[in-house]
Amino acid sequence: MSNALIKAIEGAARIGISGHKRPDGDCVGSCLGLYNYIKDVYPEKEVTIYMESIKHEFCFLRYADQINHSFTDQKGHDLYVVLDCGDEERLGDYAIYLKKAKHIFCVDHHISNKGFGDEYVVEPEASSTCEVLFDMFDYDKISRECAEALYMGIVHDTGVFKHTNTSRKTMHIAGDLIAKGLNTSHIIDDTFYRKTYAQNQILGRALMESVLLMDGKVIYSVVTKEMLKFYGLTGADLDGIIDNLRMTEGVECAILMYEIGIDKYKISMRSNDFVNVSEVASGFGGGGHIRAAGCTLTGLSQKVLDKLLIPIREQLVAAGCIENETNVM
Ligand code: 5GP
Ligand code: MN
Repeated sequence: MSNALIKAIEGAARIGISGHKRPDGDCVGSCLGLYNYIKDVYPEKEVTIYMESIKHEFCFLRYADQINHSFTDQKGHDLYVVLDCGDEERLGDYAIYLKKAKHIFCVDHHISNKGFGDEYVVEPEASSTCEVLFDMFDYDKISRECAEALYMGIVHDTGVFKHTNTSRKTMHIAGDLIAKGLNTSHIIDDTFYRKTYAQNQILGRALMESVLLMDGKVIYSVVTKEMLKFYGLTGADLDGIIDNLRMTEGVECAILMYEIGIDKYKISMRSNDFVNVSEVASGFGGGGHIRAAGCTLTGLSQKVLDKLLIPIREQLVAAGCIENETNVM
């Protein structure tokens, strides 16, 4: 299985790579990890990453400056690799490149990914797309720069090796990557933990305004456009808030809603032991993993919340976390 991607790369002259909208650490790490690998091992290939702008903290990765933001490339690709992306819609406007691609290859780890493209490798057990890619690469041919990208992706999707998706294999792979000579504390501190003053302020505000529901099993917080404007931030600055909500004592399921348009909310959900948030998100056209998922919903914030709470409540009752009669509030 692992060499299907390598075979596809070897048979292609012109290769495109894309990840999902609002690219996170695993998305950027996997796209740049693959890009670095192809540049190192197959320098004769023409390869391009098409993706939205990435956060400045990811820009230390080699070739981050070569990410292409255009939609106007008309030539088509022999091979188009889609990474860390559960469905075509998540590619956003870059999905147009799939139309002209001769061969589409998806590599992913989202349980909600039903498989798309001509070939796909989806491993829901893997911590990250970077972990899946690592298995496909020849270890001896992984450069330090490629290893940096893959390690960063694993760090982000495992929440620095603490989420339940962190397996023995994940740690082995991380060890093998570290052996390439990585400055791991730099990668972890500078790309994961460091926050600006304004980011810390909005974290504090979101926690202060959070609300407990259903006997304290559910917590939610809403970040409005006005709040983002006040602190001079965007949705990309809210990473980490959802995990703080999830870590509240007694909470099973955490919801962060942030406004991305008039009465339009991006939803992030996390659970600890029982609620399958991927199922909840998939019910609203989104997806993700069992313990971390998201979707987009339109409507007044209270109505959006009410919609989300129905399946969450059902799951909490089924798992015996709350009584059927428990008041939503
Ligand atoms: P986050 O809450 O960090 O934005 O996302 C958590 C997980 O759910 C990530 O793996 C992310 O890719 C996935 N996810 C978030 N939003 C969506 C969405 O709208 N659709 C799908 N398919 N997956 C999503
Ligand atoms: Mn991922």
